[in-house]
Amino acid sequence: MSKQTNDTKIIILGGLGEVGKNMYCVMHGNEIIIIDSGISFPEGGLLGIDYILPDFTFLKENQDKIKALIITHGHEDHIGGIPFLVQSLEIPAIYAPNQAKELIALKFEDKNIRYDNLFVYNDQTVIKFDNIQVEFFRTTHSIPDSHGILVKTPDGNIVTTGDFKFDFTPIGPMADLHKMARIGDEGVDLLISDSTNALNEGISISETKVDNALNDIFDKYTTRRIIIATLSKLATIMVERFAYLEEVWKTI
Ligand SMILES: [Zn+2]
Repeated sequence: MSKQTNDTKIIILGGLGEVGKNMYCVMHGNEIIIIDSGISFPEGGLLGIDYILPDFTFLKENQDKIKALIITHGHEDHIGGIPFLVQSLEIPAIYAPNQAKELIALKFEDKNIRYDNLFVYNDQTVIKFDNIQVEFFRTTHSIPDSHGILVKTPDGNIVTTGDFKFDFTPIGPMADLHKMARIGDEGVDLLISDSTNALNEGISISETKVDNALNDIFDKYTTRRIIIATLSKLATIMVERFAYLEEVWKTI
């Protein structure tokens, strides 16, 4: 059992220095909020393994402190672990943006899980716990309805961006740059930021261009099979496994 202090602690259970199974926890006194509950996908060598989950031991040891799970967006590496989490632990409430909420509800349905405390938030929502307050700001990403989170604690303001890129012609609403500026003016003591290829020069292409590219592919291969993965890593795994299966089929 961890010692109780009045300092704000950030416990990263997954997603730091790796792609996938994102799960951050902010703890202050007897309160823990969890941000995201993702899975990662097995690399080529891990045949027979469907998902990789974060280790929930810390949360099991601090079950009584858990107040809520808050979701930034609906990608599998942010929501894929939720069915397993709610079956392992008591999660008093889950807050998610609308699209992610629908995807989570489907997961519960698929696995026959009854969970009644799944709530939608938007960028105006404020959630108040005893020590911790949570607010949201809209971002843009490769999935619509993504948000960053401002966590106000007695020790200072923490911003976690979720995954994001700046997309000036997004599919869906623009990122709320004004709210980001306002939060910045109020003061951010810790920024936890995650943006794939952030260290590369230039700017990522807009999702609108991806849409056009998909239309081109569908127009071109009208009589062929098209396999679509919703995550780049998943696409890599599928290509690897198809290549492997092709090798196996050749030997039969
Ligand atoms: Zn994402």
